[in-house]
Amino acid sequence: MHTKGFPWLLRFVAVLLLMALITVGFFWISQKQTPATSTKPASASPIHTVVLDAGHGGEDGGAVGISGLVEKDVNLRLTLLLRDLLEANGVEVILTRETDTMLYDPSSDYVGRKKALDLAERKRIAEETPDSVFVSIHMNTYPLQSCQGLQVWYSPNHPQSQTLAKQIQTTAQELLQPNNDRAIKAAGSSIYLLHRLNTPAVLVECGFLSSPEESAKLSDPAYLQQLAFTLFAAIMQTELSAE
Ligand SMILES: [Zn+2]
Repeated sequence: MHTKGFPWLLRFVAVLLLMALITVGFFWISQKQTPATSTKPASASPIHTVVLDAGHGGEDGGAVGISGLVEKDVNLRLTLLLRDLLEANGVEVILTRETDTMLYDPSSDYVGRKKALDLAERKRIAEETPDSVFVSIHMNTYPLQSCQGLQVWYSPNHPQSQTLAKQIQTTAQELLQPNNDRAIKAAGSSIYLLHRLNTPAVLVECGFLSSPEESAKLSDPAYLQQLAFTLFAAIMQTELSAE
């Protein structure tokens, strides 16, 4: 009886030991994973599609700088640099314009309505891709020539607009303008697109053409590349959480 019973007992103990090992192993793995998954919401995801909007264009030059630099041209140059960086890193980019043009149908009844049609078309392009974020690129002017630095406005209609705006303003301070302590601002009805779009949307005033110093920088391709990289880094670092 003894010699027959022993192998059975041995198997029983072995199974118990195996079960204990599996339990301890599972507990250990779940303990290791808990801190990593709890640091951010499971639903947070990177930005995968951006509608890039180069402000103004064509007959609408936007602001004119102290040195004669025209806003629409700087907006487009910067937008194309930013597009290249985003696309090279797997982000889908949709441009509202990629040439020096205003967005209205020349065969339509546009007289006196060019600007309204232009803005409506930008809005349509943004809304055509609802699962995207909208980034509008502009340059600033101000009567005081000493005014400098990037300033971000955000749409009040979507909470993620503020997340992206904060990231751009913070990244600009970290990478490009250490003394820039501007706060992000919610757009009112005077900023047509941000006031009306329901997707995450920001407008970046990338610098003051009215400042002789900043205007000189904005005409330098190397500085525009740095500016594009700053916006690119901010977009890549932004994590959007699902609503
Ligand atoms: Zn503008």
